[in-house]
Amino acid sequence: MADTALDKFESIDGSKLGELSHLSNFEVTADFRKIAPDNLNGNEPIDVGRGNPNWINTTARLAQGRMVEFGIKDSERTFTKDNGAMAGYIEMDGIEDRFKEFMNPENPADQLLLNTVKYATDELGINGDEMVHEMADGAIGNHYPVPSRSLVNVEKILNKYLEKALYRGAELANETELFPTEGGAASMVYIFNEMKLSHILEPGDKVAINTPIFTPYLEIPILKEYNLEIVPLLSSEDNDWQMTDEQLDQLKDPSIKAFFDVNPTNPAARAFSNHALDKIKEVVEANPKLTIVTDDVYGTFAEGFKTIYSVVPHNTLLVYSFSKLFGVTGHRLGLTAAHKDNVFDQIIAEKTAANPEIKAEFEDRYSKVVTDPLHMKFIDRMVADSRAIGLYHVAGLSTPQQIMMELLAANNLTVGDDTYLDASREVVGERYNAFWNGLGVDADESEGNTKYYTLINIPTLMEKSYNKDFSDWYVKNYNYLDFSYRLVREFGAVIMDASSFGANEGYVRISLANMPTESYAKIAEYMKELLAQYYAEYQKNNK
Ligand SMILES: *Cc1c(COP(=O)(O)O)cnc(C)c1O
Repeated sequence: MADTALDKFESIDGSKLGELSHLSNFEVTADFRKIAPDNLNGNEPIDVGRGNPNWINTTARLAQGRMVEFGIKDSERTFTKDNGAMAGYIEMDGIEDRFKEFMNPENPADQLLLNTVKYATDELGINGDEMVHEMADGAIGNHYPVPSRSLVNVEKILNKYLEKALYRGAELANETELFPTEGGAASMVYIFNEMKLSHILEPGDKVAINTPIFTPYLEIPILKEYNLEIVPLLSSEDNDWQMTDEQLDQLKDPSIKAFFDVNPTNPAARAFSNHALDKIKEVVEANPKLTIVTDDVYGTFAEGFKTIYSVVPHNTLLVYSFSKLFGVTGHRLGLTAAHKDNVFDQIIAEKTAANPEIKAEFEDRYSKVVTDPLHMKFIDRMVADSRAIGLYHVAGLSTPQQIMMELLAANNLTVGDDTYLDASREVVGERYNAFWNGLGVDADESEGNTKYYTLINIPTLMEKSYNKDFSDWYVKNYNYLDFSYRLVREFGAVIMDASSFGANEGYVRISLANMPTESYAKIAEYMKELLAQYYAEYQKNNK
């Protein structure tokens, strides 16, 4: 190894970096976080490794609080005891009128609630008393979720939100069924579990995955209980972070049972192009039994976004999360969406007809909870299996969380232009510019860039900032984690290495979501300083 600044660090040497490269990027970053406060320059630590946003949606939270207040007041109508510490229950009859009287249209939170009910009654034809009753009873959380998959009106509102935010004109709200879950994370877990239990994915099956990708999609399929073979479709910066036609053509092979994708991507932060969407349509025509799971958590951050679900709805399960856009990671709010007519159910029917053992297995498993176990839909199996069958009658997401999601969605549905979406794009956009301007390198401004994250190739940055010989020298002489390590050790700035996402070595990910704009200018400055240090070492060694 060349004479590096690492030599003067007492605690970590090259071998330690070697050890680190066996860990996942989340663990490496956790180690970096620990050493950041002791950085050699005595800087205030900056952590841009996290995807957790540092903003929150205020209106829907306040509205949720007001709905709780209203629900309690309405419960007191039936009876109270213990000086009001106990109240009775909500009655449906006349509740819309009582609600309208309680709410103050001058207050933005109350206005959201009034608008939500108005939207439900006027646009969706929902009965006003039923709507308000579901919201109030759901907000106070006094009943098990019924139906367990999703509250009835919550599903209608969420469907309209998904249609407006992600489908770009395709009208699928009425044909889509939803299962609200404990974040997108639970949706992912339930989907993997159900694809296995339904025999859609068997051990040894091939699943294609668009990489680089959010690491769980690489880590879950290879677990012993799934034992799937991953076919990575690696996109590269040279191809604008899009999959090539040749890569997408691989999906036409019927031995590929499923395609898992994150769109827009994490970490590359790019939406699939229209061309890729057309190509996916073509692929499904050639391989009609292909199952697709699309994780569209970042969809709203890309202008003009269109989900794969709206292109091939019958083949696709859509995973959505409210975590990022609305700053509700602690709430755990996500969902799975499925078309009423889908290949998941078709495959189940075919397997049942073709294989007596599978038929017997399904009958045995689901007859405990439904009268027609063989025709139980994939999405309902997901709900039942999420509670190990035995607890199906108390399954479903907590009702206050369902109402919270409904209000976040309604906040977007009931305003004419998406001012909240614009604000969220503005926040990450400013930080993105502060970072790339600070580095003095042209930023990627192409369409479909969410700017929620940005990937930086360190050797390429070295080449752009100095020259190719210098960057080759770095690659040859240093562990690929060296730059990130020295950035934290010397400057206290934590960035995330992107190799465990499936990116080629040399890429680091910066999240634009979790620090104020100034921090991004600062981190660019530190990176430039560090580049200059490496360059000085390069010159010293190449005299
Ligand atoms: C953050 C993230 C999730 C997790 O969403 P939660 O709703 O917080 O569980 C899922 N998928 C991707 C791609 C993410 O980046």
